[in-house]
Amino acid sequence: MIKSTLCKKLSLGLLVAFAGACFLSLGNAEASVLYPGVGKKPPVTWKQPAETGKKTPSTDSKKDTSKSEERSTWKKSQNADSNIRVGLASGVVQASISSVNGMHVFGVDDNRDMGDFRSNIVANLSVVGNTIAVNGKNSNKSSLKFVPVVTGGQGKIKYNTTEYRGEIVATVVGNKLIIVNLLSLEDYVKGVLPSEMSPSWNMEALKAQAVAARTYALYTKNQKTHLGDGYDLCDSTHCQSYEGMSGESSSASAAVDATAGLVMTYDGRPIYAPYHASSGGVTENSEDVWGNNLPYLRSVKDDDSQSPYHNWSVKYSAAQVQKLLSAAGKNIGQLKSISLASPNGGANGTLSSGRAAGVKFVGSGQNVVLTSQQVRQIFGLKSSYFTVRTQRPATIPVKKTEKNKKNKGNTIDAAPAAMQDKELHVENSSVEVIFDGHGFGHGLGMSQYGAKAMADAGKKYDEILHHYYTGIDIVKRY
Ligand SMILES: [Zn+2]
Repeated sequence: MIKSTLCKKLSLGLLVAFAGACFLSLGNAEASVLYPGVGKKPPVTWKQPAETGKKTPSTDSKKDTSKSEERSTWKKSQNADSNIRVGLASGVVQASISSVNGMHVFGVDDNRDMGDFRSNIVANLSVVGNTIAVNGKNSNKSSLKFVPVVTGGQGKIKYNTTEYRGEIVATVVGNKLIIVNLLSLEDYVKGVLPSEMSPSWNMEALKAQAVAARTYALYTKNQKTHLGDGYDLCDSTHCQSYEGMSGESSSASAAVDATAGLVMTYDGRPIYAPYHASSGGVTENSEDVWGNNLPYLRSVKDDDSQSPYHNWSVKYSAAQVQKLLSAAGKNIGQLKSISLASPNGGANGTLSSGRAAGVKFVGSGQNVVLTSQQVRQIFGLKSSYFTVRTQRPATIPVKKTEKNKKNKGNTIDAAPAAMQDKELHVENSSVEVIFDGHGFGHGLGMSQYGAKAMADAGKKYDEILHHYYTGIDIVKRY
């Protein structure tokens, strides 16, 4: 099974701050518009429901979804793939919701019209038992939907300080609020893309990223990873970092529009489409990262020369190595030697891709052989594409037998252990263990710096995707 912890956001946070100021100037002309047919209302008209008492807790997310879609402004298509529910918060006891456009409020369980709020008038939500109070008045509803008056993709709804497209649904579960953003998958990807790739990059790379992010979202939704939470995806790096309209940029949105509805499939189904910042020069086979062999996640060569993470080194003293291993539940005692090794058998400690298979730590207490993924996690390495060497601090005198060796300096073993096919002996706790590596991220699927290099070399987005995802089709899903 695919583990959510392997979300592609083991990569760097290519965070680019984009002020949302451009949005603030829009829509003010519409600010006083109220929902047609409602008529003139005071700034805040909050209807107390006629009936009280019988309430149905909205813990059945399927039911909530079908109901909430009935009057959705974002429902442009009958295709279930085209919409998405993004969890913005859970376990909170209050929330503020408003819309520059003015907003309509519905009870989710019965679709009852609960009233309207004019432009920028805030609905402050709090929890009363299993129901929601709005500005101090109990709605007697366990779930409320907030819909901008303006439709057609221009509507904006603000939760706390961030504006979102689509609608907001607040639901009480266990005396706490879950806040969900309902919107089109296209608008969602626009809010995701600039968090995942710099909008200043080549348009073809951005388009490839848009298709990958859209596919990743659809796959995650189909996996029902967050179904029990009441939404399809969360807004953090666990799924994909989503910042609503504050995360949008014009170039990224243009890349989304240019690839609207396009998804990568294999055997007709949306693929698991992980991506990462930098491969180091070669991507990885899926089974060598998390054990599951997927035919479309094959190791491929990659131009990583533009990546700032192409080469890196991380250094620890033997004492620090012992401490980190112990903290991870692998107490080996005193580190005696270290070498690249293959945890699942195999000879030279490297995988078919050339990336490290694992590392053997020989200790005074016990020996452990860890996979490169475990080593990456325990030692905070940027990737699993590394070799290991040891280095004697200058304070330790060089042995006579080594003095005559050429180019040794104070380095005991300068070459990778795998190439030497031997263990690197650690004389004492001050000997340094050095991981020399390439790339940043898990190495699965598309490398973002590699995609940039391909785009800069004139490749189109579909060529980029076919390079990193083997044997896939790119199809218009809606
Ligand atoms: Zn998630």
